[in-house]
Amino acid sequence: MKYQRSSALFKEAQRYIPGGVNSPVRAFKAVGGTPVFVKEAKGAYLYDEDGNRLIDYISSWGPLILGHAYEPVLEAVIKKAKKGTSFGMPTEIETDLAKLALSMVLNMDKIRFVNSGTEACMSAIRLARGFTGKDKIIKFAGCYHGHADAFLIQAGSGAVTFGSPNSPGVTEGTAKDTLLARYNNLESVDALLEANKENVAAVIIEPVAGNMGCIIPDDSFIKGLRERCTEKKILLIFDEVMTGFRLAKGGAQEVLNIKADIVTYGKVIGGGLPVGAFAARKEIMDYLAPDGPVYQAGTLSGNPLAMSAGLAMLTALNEKPEVFESLANKTEYLHQGIERILSDNGIAHQINRFGSMISVHFTEKPVKDFEGAMKGNNDTFKKYFHGMLSKGVYLPPSAFESYFLNDALSYSDIDFTLEGLTEIVSDLK
Ligand code: PMP
Repeated sequence: MKYQRSSALFKEAQRYIPGGVNSPVRAFKAVGGTPVFVKEAKGAYLYDEDGNRLIDYISSWGPLILGHAYEPVLEAVIKKAKKGTSFGMPTEIETDLAKLALSMVLNMDKIRFVNSGTEACMSAIRLARGFTGKDKIIKFAGCYHGHADAFLIQAGSGAVTFGSPNSPGVTEGTAKDTLLARYNNLESVDALLEANKENVAAVIIEPVAGNMGCIIPDDSFIKGLRERCTEKKILLIFDEVMTGFRLAKGGAQEVLNIKADIVTYGKVIGGGLPVGAFAARKEIMDYLAPDGPVYQAGTLSGNPLAMSAGLAMLTALNEKPEVFESLANKTEYLHQGIERILSDNGIAHQINRFGSMISVHFTEKPVKDFEGAMKGNNDTFKKYFHGMLSKGVYLPPSAFESYFLNDALSYSDIDFTLEGLTEIVSDLK
């Protein structure tokens, strides 16, 4: 594979854009080398500026669950764009998407749309604080809820990849209101609840974590969280930006059989356009402006292009819910293949998978939290990433990310991927 044009474009981008990218993980800093500049994409494939074809395992970090340039989404967006791109006034399609989204998820009465997962999570904790009249939130080390100040405390994803899980620029005042617990560890939650009696507004969690690689919650952990929150009148916020409309119609709430008090969405709900959302029971959502005192707003929130993409995407998923199983089956097939090849070659590894979220941690011990994820061998990861890239397979360029399969991916694409791994596996030793 050649990357001459990507390399030239990256050099040029670096002159004008910090690090040459508009979101850090894209820059390949964790794995080295030149980031791939995409020209176009269709179905399961990316086509880069040098004419290489890559099988895509990130699907724009989750949104494109039915593959790139999915026709019904494209058609809806193009048709809508011709009628105007934004009005800053109410439109019918906002209610259409709200109705459909709420009919697919459990336990939620109202939803508000924003423009990103970050905004959704930031707004959700403000709402939780306003509603409960309490200040502190509990988050889990290694979970990522976007780049709002309150979340950049031991954050996962790019924040940990680049060594700044606690970002400079976040004031001490903000940091002291974010309490840090360990994923899959109820004792750490209990200790914080004991030390901060009466002042915890919310517990926010990725119900299946994807930002320290994929980490699966123990049943007793997630149930225990729900019980504690109910008992202490703390709102449980599920950050379903990754899991929402990916693990099932009803997301992690459905598959884990746990009801959250506030749920945040992003990625799939926008069909590839910038959409985030947060939803809750009526009494909580009515606390938002203009009906309630908690302020939250957005110039482009609910804009017709984003809403039409989201509506086309959710309509497709609502009409063929078998997609979720199909995706989980494909991911399982990939899982078994990688497992077999790495085991046969004596490469220490752990594969964590939940539905269509999967990641490979290069370590001997099971990975159940951030500390475990940090033990992964990054040199092996780099070789794995670049080896697979050289075979035409695009994986997330950081060990602290989950893969996101899309349903355009075929079993022969997965076989191709596994053949690639067989060819490069000896380099991982
Ligand atoms: N929450 C989770 C669980 C995420 O994975 C992400 C992004 N990867 C976010 C929030 C932030 O979303 P965005 O990048 O759209 O701001």
